[in-house]
Amino acid sequence: MDSGTHTFGSDIEHSMAVRLMQHLVVPTFVLDAERRVTIWNHACERLTGIPAAEMLGTKDHWRGFYNEPRHCLADLIALEKFDQLAELYAAHTTPGEFGFGLRAENWCVMPVKGERHYLAVDAGPIYDDQGKLIAIVETLRDMTDQKLAEMALQSLATKDSLTGLANRRSLDDKLQLEWKCGLRAGTSLAFILADIDHFKCYNDHYGHPKGDECLRSVAGAIGTAVFRPADMTARYGGEEFAIVMPNTDQAGAHAVAERICVAIRALAIPHAASATAPHVTISVGVSALVPDSGNSLEALIAAADAALYRAKGSGRNRTVVDQPT
Ligand code: GH3
Ligand code: MG
Ligand code: MG
Repeated sequence: MDSGTHTFGSDIEHSMAVRLMQHLVVPTFVLDAERRVTIWNHACERLTGIPAAEMLGTKDHWRGFYNEPRHCLADLIALEKFDQLAELYAAHTTPGEFGFGLRAENWCVMPVKGERHYLAVDAGPIYDDQGKLIAIVETLRDMTDQKLAEMALQSLATKDSLTGLANRRSLDDKLQLEWKCGLRAGTSLAFILADIDHFKCYNDHYGHPKGDECLRSVAGAIGTAVFRPADMTARYGGEEFAIVMPNTDQAGAHAVAERICVAIRALAIPHAASATAPHVTISVGVSALVPDSGNSLEALIAAADAALYRAKGSGRNRTVVDQPT
């Protein structure tokens, strides 16, 4: 670092500050105003696997964290390119929220070590007495364990453990959300309920573990029949599945329901105890409406339920579309 800048007061104070940073347990690197690495401390060497000797004087600090050249948080501060924050980081503060500094979080590939880490990054500028930028300090915290725990918890709270589909709670949240969106936008919301035919007999005949296996296969097949990312497929209950489809009318939902029936038939899972077919089949009820003050989410769900009931009553292995009242 240029000891002539007098940034840290005397040269002795300056070298003391540098030494402190070198030994700080927090991974830290420092860029000068031209964004060249002036400090790459021991903890940063350990975190990235790259020795300081390879970094000092270069603009290669990105190599510690990413496969491709890109800006790090310290670069964004130096260049005042705050508009790139959202594109480059999974989460970040807004400029001014923490003085002149920024905080951000990201999955980093850590190319040298070859393992992904979730890093929390703090970066702050250092100015001289005249207010000129002379350095940017970036500190890193490895949050991988916490992030993985958070993701596992999130998955536990929102996913059905047997099938991996969304659970009932997520479905209820999604329905509430999409109902409000439909109400605002005046767009049709569709709801499908699908129920495996004669599944009690399947369990009785093949055993519960085989029943679980069948549920997983059916869930996978339903997933292949629902294409749009905005849709949600959930396990509604034991052998019942539900699909929420925003911005979808009755005809569109009917087409999805038909695809589901076809996909389940195509699985051709033997079901010797079924009174409907020699393989596993499914019955599907479809409903759709444009939310307004004269109808309700409950009516939409009840209509799909009534349609499913009619599908069961009229021979199973089919789709029935109902008109909400
Ligand atoms: P229907 O054609 O009228 O739908 O008849 P069904 O036998 O499918 O309907 P019923 O509601 O009588 O039975 C549902 C069965 O689903 C009973 C229950 O043992 C089984 N089931 C529910 N959850 C699970 C599960 O997680 N694993 C397994 N293996 N079976 C389950
Ligand atoms: Mg059922
Ligand atoms: Mg059933």
